Amino acid sequence: MGKALSRNRARQIAVLAVSVLATGIVSGSARAADCPGNPGALGTSRTLVVDPREHTRIGTMQYAETLPLQDHEVVLTFDDGPLPPHSTQVLDILASQCVKATFFIIGRMARDYPEGVRKVRDAGHSIGTHSQNHPLSMNRMPIERARQEIDDGIAATTAALDDAGGLAPFFRIPGLLRAEGVEDYLASKGIQTWSADFPADDWRHVSSSRVYDLAMSRLEAKGKGILLLHDIQARTVAALPRILRELKARGYRIVHVEQSTPDRPATPTEPQQWQLHPTSETVAISHWPKIPNFVFASAETLVAPAVSDSDWRDGRLVSLPESFDRSRRLARGAVPLPLAAPWPRLSPLPASAAITLPVPAQDIFEIQEKSSPATQQAVIPSAHHAERIAAPVGNDADATAMRISIDASASKRMIPGSLPIAEPGLKPVPLTAR
Ligand SMILES: [Zn+2]
Repeated sequence: MGKALSRNRARQIAVLAVSVLATGIVSGSARAADCPGNPGALGTSRTLVVDPREHTRIGTMQYAETLPLQDHEVVLTFDDGPLPPHSTQVLDILASQCVKATFFIIGRMARDYPEGVRKVRDAGHSIGTHSQNHPLSMNRMPIERARQEIDDGIAATTAALDDAGGLAPFFRIPGLLRAEGVEDYLASKGIQTWSADFPADDWRHVSSSRVYDLAMSRLEAKGKGILLLHDIQARTVAALPRILRELKARGYRIVHVEQSTPDRPATPTEPQQWQLHPTSETVAISHWPKIPNFVFASAETLVAPAVSDSDWRDGRLVSLPESFDRSRRLARGAVPLPLAAPWPRLSPLPASAAITLPVPAQDIFEIQEKSSPATQQAVIPSAHHAERIAAPVGNDADATAMRISIDASASKRMIPGSLPIAEPGLKPVPLTAR
């Protein structure tokens, strides 16, 4: 009797737990269930309301911040439209899955196909702008021209909508060719600059299955984020149904982004939610913080560091023959060379000397686990100078050099294959989006 009761009780609890769980799932994708004619639709799981003035630049392809998404949340964005028939087909595919996205409209396209912009609006998507003529030079054109591109694009899109209220204060720079002056101008107008978290290369001459593969693999790598697509491409139209199906199958959820208004406050968020992975160092994200324009553009002409910059120990020079040999091998190998670093002090050596110098040895970048302060001091200097140092200076120096060689070999074993060479001079890879 008692056993039967407790079994009944357990069953009741189980049923309750399942129904609570089911309620949670259903409420999380209520809109998917509401999708007319498609009960299994991907749907739109929630609307994220953002205040562009609080977070002016988003998208980890270029910026430190991105949208405050939870794991497995995706924001779809489509650039360069509207252009029939592809844009219309994209709208139909999104509608069939009850998915809401953000469209970045080109002013010239809006002027030529105003009804296409209205279709985007009428389908309930968010509408940002993408310049008037899509110049792939906003990173270097005079700021007055860039402002004109922005303003004209907004004006043309607004005219197509016949309603200024239909436009979201979101802007994506053509080709993602960002410039601080452009971003500052947008911010001054209360417009949010959207980069993305990953593209699918659908503007390139690749197959639709390649677009699908890139979209999914790059999403999987980051776990969430803003996907950059183009609604004017046939390959995107072909890839989109499969992308949406797979998003659903893998448990991803679509988030629709809208701007806040006086009547509609922004979704409450914490600052760290605007970081992609605040605590993780394992995901390679393209953070391009505001690095000043270093002189790397003219790196070939930098003069070599002076002997006096390093390699001093007790006032005498130290030779690092093994490290040097290794560095020569690296120089001939396929390891991508770091661009020249700015040395703390420049020597009066002739500029031509710089060309013949070998790359720094890998040892320089490795961490010495067991070394005395004296060897640390001696190991840190680069092997750059070995070529110019004819011979060890004395017995003490010989002994030190040998000790360093041993330490360096040990450190190689400690960190196999690691070559944490920074690439300080690289700029964001400019996308040549059409
Ligand atoms: Zn574009």
